[in-house]
Amino acid sequence: MFIPDGVNRDYSGKKGIFFSWGWIGNKVNKSESSWDSEDQISQFVSKISQVKKVDGYMGRHDCEICGEKMGSCSLKFKYGGKVYVSPDRVEHYILKHGYVPPKEVINSVFNGIDSEENKTYVKNHQNDL
Ligand SMILES: [Zn+2]
Repeated sequence: MFIPDGVNRDYSGKKGIFFSWGWIGNKVNKSESSWDSEDQISQFVSKISQVKKVDGYMGRHDCEICGEKMGSCSLKFKYGGKVYVSPDRVEHYILKHGYVPPKEVINSVFNGIDSEENKTYVKNHQNDL
């Protein structure tokens, strides 16, 4: 499934501001963004591994580039009033296919996942799985 990065879309009909990222479809588009270092990539991947998996009922999606099994969940976290939504195992696209998320996503992952705003969001959405 391809959704351009930054599109305001949610998959479960919930209201709010959603920022889609990592739904790359069958190719990696050139990114305006770039990593600062190899270290930043591994720190990013380790951070997103802390994000709660939700919406497990949406059906499995596989990598459209290499066929790797990707799981059926989405990753959601909230920061700056927006909910960031990516596919489960989005790190596969980053590590295997060179996908670089938008700068806004990189910043929000580093600043947002441990934020009070996100902790409250997670607490209020315990039943989304
Ligand atoms: Zn792949």
